[in-house]
Amino acid sequence: MLAIDIKNVSKTYADGFVALKDISLEIKKGDFFALLGPNGAGKSTTIGIISSLVNKSSGNVSICGVDVDEDFNKAKSYLGVVPQEVNLSIFETVEQIILNQAGYYGVSRSLANTRLDFLLKKLDIYDKKHAQIRMLSGGMKRRVMIARALIHNPQVLILDEPTAGVDVELRHLMWNFIQELHDGGMTIILTTHYLEEAEQLAKNIAIINNGEIIENTTVKELLKQLDKEMYIIDSKEFLPTKLHIKGVEFSKVDETTIEVVIDKQSSINAIIKELDSQGVEISGIRNKQNRLEALFIQKTKKDNFDKGGKN
Ligand code: ADP
Repeated sequence: MLAIDIKNVSKTYADGFVALKDISLEIKKGDFFALLGPNGAGKSTTIGIISSLVNKSSGNVSICGVDVDEDFNKAKSYLGVVPQEVNLSIFETVEQIILNQAGYYGVSRSLANTRLDFLLKKLDIYDKKHAQIRMLSGGMKRRVMIARALIHNPQVLILDEPTAGVDVELRHLMWNFIQELHDGGMTIILTTHYLEEAEQLAKNIAIINNGEIIENTTVKELLKQLDKEMYIIDSKEFLPTKLHIKGVEFSKVDETTIEVVIDKQSSINAIIKELDSQGVEISGIRNKQNRLEALFIQKTKKDNFDKGGKN
């Protein structure tokens, strides 16, 4: 059974911008799925269409086997969404917001109260139960949105860029809890451009770029395809303004640091020699562990090196 079935969905916004170009995606029940792509790729548009906040221009979407156009309420009842932007009314209390949501989904008051306390404790904001939203920090608001998305115990939880602006501590708390939900059978879908997140958490992954799905596979398979390696090279002195490394993509991170991307088969030695010949004295080399990012560059052929002197 599929948790989410997206078939040939396109989206053209009112101003004529084509944000999604005939995308299809199948996400199985119980999956931990990442939709990965740079800013503006179409991730939020996709999530908006799944949750019916954005009207699709064409195509079909089903949630747990129910077509959103045929039975919107039923399809929506399977879904909990944590949006990217904070959308909480600031004068309401945490309790009011979450119980309202429970009411909207027809959860009985007693069950809603039990779940509310459970979720607030899990998310470590139980002491804010009666606080107005305006009194909460950004991280606390994010937790409230997670609790709100879960109050009707949905089968599918979607998190749109969940760690944007979230500190490390909250990130850990969030992921532990979400992992627990996933272990309990909930389908988890997250969008991210924080690539390590996708790599660490997700089983299956789709990469979206310019409104098109350019990859859809398991994280394991994807990483196997990786044939690029990224290094950070530090120079003792300021780097020459006109630096060239033959046949190698690189970018200046700052006055004394560059980032290079090389084929896995090639050796970093050639680059060291090349830099040496241009008078660069290297003070350190680190392998950048973000393999997925390197893969992304490889996949999209669109890199971040425009500003830094791609050769
Ligand atoms: P992502 O979530 O991957 O950052 P979005 O889905 O938010 O990307 O946006 C995809 C593209 O659609 C972007 O180029 C964005 O500017 C455009 N877009 C988003 N919303 C609108 C809108 N309401 N009207 C016109 N263009 C939009």
